[in-house]
Amino acid sequence: MELSTQLVHFDPAPGDPLRPTSTPIYQTATFCQPDADGQGPYDYTRSGNPTRSVLQRQLARLEGGCAAFVFASGMAALSTLTSLLQVGDHVLAGDDLYGGSYRLLDQVARRRGLLSSAVDLTDLAAVRAGLRPSTRLLLVETPTNPLQRICDLRALAAICRERDVLLAVDNSLLSPLLQQPLLLGADLVVHSATKHLGGHSDLTAGVLAVRNPDLAERIAFLQNAEGTALGPFDSWLLLRGLKTLALRLERQQTNALRVAEFLAAHPAVRRVHYPGLSEHPGAALHRSQARGAGAVISFETGDLRWSRQVVEATSLFSIAVSFGNLSSFISLPCRMSHASIPAAVRAERALPEDLVRLSIGIEAAEDLVADLAQAFCKARAQALDPATCSLRGG
Ligand SMILES: *Cc1c(COP(=O)(O)O)cnc(C)c1O
Repeated sequence: MELSTQLVHFDPAPGDPLRPTSTPIYQTATFCQPDADGQGPYDYTRSGNPTRSVLQRQLARLEGGCAAFVFASGMAALSTLTSLLQVGDHVLAGDDLYGGSYRLLDQVARRRGLLSSAVDLTDLAAVRAGLRPSTRLLLVETPTNPLQRICDLRALAAICRERDVLLAVDNSLLSPLLQQPLLLGADLVVHSATKHLGGHSDLTAGVLAVRNPDLAERIAFLQNAEGTALGPFDSWLLLRGLKTLALRLERQQTNALRVAEFLAAHPAVRRVHYPGLSEHPGAALHRSQARGAGAVISFETGDLRWSRQVVEATSLFSIAVSFGNLSSFISLPCRMSHASIPAAVRAERALPEDLVRLSIGIEAAEDLVADLAQAFCKARAQALDPATCSLRGG
């Protein structure tokens, strides 16, 4: 069955004799037990809840895993991932990673006795060199965020297997509709379900999906022991959002390509980062492991002041962190989503301060292009050749 069919075809309420077509919200903390041995199927919502179970089963199926777990946020999922490790273990991570993931490894996991370092994961020699005897986890984003570099998931999985390292892929940027890392050899998939999976910017949630039952058992234990699971109402919101993932993402992606092409042709844009453009250096590799380029684009203007003016001059793009929402967002990663990475580290990792990130929504593509065109004009009204302004819509 195609994923777009699976998104809307699943048992919404296993065992319910009333056969509802939408999953009921079991908004209860506790469940009465048939006897003093507590043998009921559910006892306490921290440990298990029927609404959450339906969601978790559906996410496992979409990622091609044996189990999935939902958490209060993407960071809670990532934190649980680090809880699988022991004091003294080393984590190797990509050097272009979501700012919060960097902060978790650098400031929280470190205090719990985990070491971490970062390399450019598009460079397999650097990956091999970066692995230590104590490395237990490789944390990957592909495309990376916000620079949209492409990492070779099959090759990284082979290296990890050789070295007995867990491979975890943060798949927030694409969703299982476009990329299924477990099927390419990853051990775990992480999501900020706040992004594409939810899609409506109305909840925060996180996911860990796994390929093997042993890991599933350890994560189930942690989810209960640490009390990090997503509540019933948010589980229901996420189930509801998930059903339209294919429709949303297909439209967002078509729009994104149109916007990326507009940006690539605009004289005021120095570089566009979007793997859907054929000139992207990772485009072919990306196509070999994913079914689409997603809806996030970043670009450089070469001048922070100007980037800031463009961001502030748009009217359809909300200035907001996050991506995957129905309406479009614009941001300056170094000031916003990635501000938790110290400026010196950002410089070392060549994260341009003038980088602008767009999350493309489901609006009409023409309106988005026209809005960006007018923002460029407004931002540089005096400095630019008036000819630039005639690019509106084109
Ligand atoms: C947003 C994000 C996270 C963190 O998720 P929250 O739901 O905000 O806690 C992790 N990874 C990536 C790639 C993200 O974009």
